[in-house]
Amino acid sequence: MIMNMQEYIDEAEGALLHTYNRYPVVLDRGEGVYLYDTDGIKYLDFVSGIGVFALGYNNKEYNNALKSQVDRLLHTSNYYYNVPAINAAKKLKAVSGMDRVFFTNSGAEAVEGAIKAARKYAYLKDGKTDHEIIAMNHSFHGRTFGALSVTGNPKYREPFLPMIGNVRFADLNDIESVKEQITDKTCAVLLEPVQGEGGIHPADESFLKEIKAICEEKDILLILDEIQCGMGRTGYMYAWQRYGVKPDIMTTAKALGCGVPVGAFLMTEKVAQNSLAAGDHGTTYGGNPFVCTAVEKVLALFEENHIIEHVREVAPYLESCLDTLKEKYDCILERRGAGLMQGLVFDRPVRDIISRALEEGLVLINAGENIIRFLPPLIISKANIDEMIDILESCMEPQEEQAE
Ligand SMILES: *Cc1c(COP(=O)(O)O)cnc(C)c1O
Repeated sequence: MIMNMQEYIDEAEGALLHTYNRYPVVLDRGEGVYLYDTDGIKYLDFVSGIGVFALGYNNKEYNNALKSQVDRLLHTSNYYYNVPAINAAKKLKAVSGMDRVFFTNSGAEAVEGAIKAARKYAYLKDGKTDHEIIAMNHSFHGRTFGALSVTGNPKYREPFLPMIGNVRFADLNDIESVKEQITDKTCAVLLEPVQGEGGIHPADESFLKEIKAICEEKDILLILDEIQCGMGRTGYMYAWQRYGVKPDIMTTAKALGCGVPVGAFLMTEKVAQNSLAAGDHGTTYGGNPFVCTAVEKVLALFEENHIIEHVREVAPYLESCLDTLKEKYDCILERRGAGLMQGLVFDRPVRDIISRALEEGLVLINAGENIIRFLPPLIISKANIDEMIDILESCMEPQEEQAE
């Protein structure tokens, strides 16, 4: 039965658990950088499913690769090898410079695996079971218990206490705050090179380098969560590559599958040889032939279509357009970000602007109450950026009406 959009929404609210305050739109199909709702209305997309659809919607080569894998083999147990997983892992090693890959079904699961690997590494060194992890305030690492335990937002953790123990929090870009939390039990420091959900905060080069030096000196593992900022988003395949601060363990997901649920944690050979061993970790679906076909194709298309080079070309234009907007409107306090991961900080909640933009055919999302986050598909053009700015401006209060 075909329903109109409001009927679909009513049915959804009667059946789905209400864990999201959803915007009143039912999305139906996508084409390039545009989405269409069930009433056929077209939207310019500057969210890409929260940094997932890097290659845009309905990419024929990607679709065809998945379709042919559907007819061949969707799933095998991880007790057997499969060709797409082998190819995907080889490609992922090459673009990340890491040595070993474990495929997961989500970002949160990649973080879980990273935490387990770090604890096992420390356990094998001293046989103790009281190791600590240092994570950052305002970080976001996912909603499962391990990932939530290292998420630096007390509001997300509180109703679900107790968390896993021995997590300490420091402030991003404040090296002293990190040093204060280091003890002889510290086994890992975990952070996002650019914080996403927490409000688009890039880590400083000096902060990353100092943490890396401390970690090397004390044999503490550096875990970088590249789930949102990775996969070309900042103009580097992984954001840490900009400063050459290589992690011991890295997580990736979101754009890794461009629409199929897949993530991964990767590690150096040294960590691999001294942490998770046979029987220590597993997953039924993780790394199955279907999702790994997607990963393999995504990485191939990144290369063929020069996605990183394209991001480097268009991102400065997005930055300058957002800077111009900031100059024009007093209610915009700051622009910050890296590449095609940008935030505009407002002096007020942004939900009204985002709702109005949706009515005008532009999909935007927030990061915290007062920040509009821009995570367009990486194939976005300068003309698309102009189009976005025009719509966004039409949704802002006229400047002269603002209080002085
Ligand atoms: C989205 C996100 C996660 C969680 O990924 P899921 O696939 O939603 O579990 C973890 N870390 C970061 C930085 C993220 O942006």
